[in-house]
Amino acid sequence: MKKLISIIMAAVLITGLAACGRTAEEPAKQSGLTIYASFYPMQFLVSEIAGDKAQVKSLVPAGVEPHDWEPKPRTLAELQESDMLVYNGAGMEAWLGDLLPSIEKAGVKTVNTSMGLDLLPFDEKNADEHEDEEGEEEVALIYDPHIWVSPVKYKQQAQNVLDALIELDAANQEYYSANYEKLAEQLDKLDSDYRQAVAGFKSKVFIVSHSAFEYLAKEYGLTQLPIRGVTPQAEPSPAKLAELAEICRENNIKYIFFESLVSPKLSETLANEIGAQVLVLNDGQGITEEQMKQGRSYITIMYENLENLKKALMQ
Ligand SMILES: [Zn+2]
Repeated sequence: MKKLISIIMAAVLITGLAACGRTAEEPAKQSGLTIYASFYPMQFLVSEIAGDKAQVKSLVPAGVEPHDWEPKPRTLAELQESDMLVYNGAGMEAWLGDLLPSIEKAGVKTVNTSMGLDLLPFDEKNADEHEDEEGEEEVALIYDPHIWVSPVKYKQQAQNVLDALIELDAANQEYYSANYEKLAEQLDKLDSDYRQAVAGFKSKVFIVSHSAFEYLAKEYGLTQLPIRGVTPQAEPSPAKLAELAEICRENNIKYIFFESLVSPKLSETLANEIGAQVLVLNDGQGITEEQMKQGRSYITIMYENLENLKKALMQ
């Protein structure tokens, strides 16, 4: 970590020097706010609420699994020049801990969207599998960080974004509040559509490749069984796989889910073992720039997930 910090410090110095030399070619500073979001579901919240008052950028590029991402040497400098940073918190952005003090020192407003929310504890059952490929222990998680997959919790995160935007730019309070209301309405509709569909489910148990859907499961009275732990890198033991195969047979499970950004290999192995098929559940980050331009969003992803859950659990 010391090495990373010195690389970042060097990068800050170089960026600073470079900045002195570029005057003629520098484009006029855009009016409005520049806001960074840590990854797509956070970017969507800020974009919807800030509307045309801000340029919103995601640190983790769309379509990249956020558990794997690490900041670039230039990331700190970019953040320090912005107006606000919005992140999920609850341990999702482990890389942020070292950068936060320097970002705040530069006068940037930082927003932890999980602040004040009721969080689920990190599932101890997954702890023994919580090792990376080199066998090193990962930073211990206290909470399950995948909050945004619950429309109810996501709306609370949206409220935190609204409050922060108003603090940052009170002149546009009405505009932000109106945008928030539009988003909140969509999230309420999503929530009631989930409740209605789940009431008709014959089975309540679904198997996923990594434990990204616990908040969704808890919200709607479903049971999520992860093949892997909370991070997609953790590998399950053969005993764990055998145990899951047994549960699948007992529950007559016909579909095994995998996240769109995680290799389907494990889910396929389990599916083959029990004669089931695989289906996608998208944890919200599995969306590309191209798909966003075509109108896909957090909301459409959550409806695609609902369709796949219906397919698996209504039979
Ligand atoms: Zn995850």
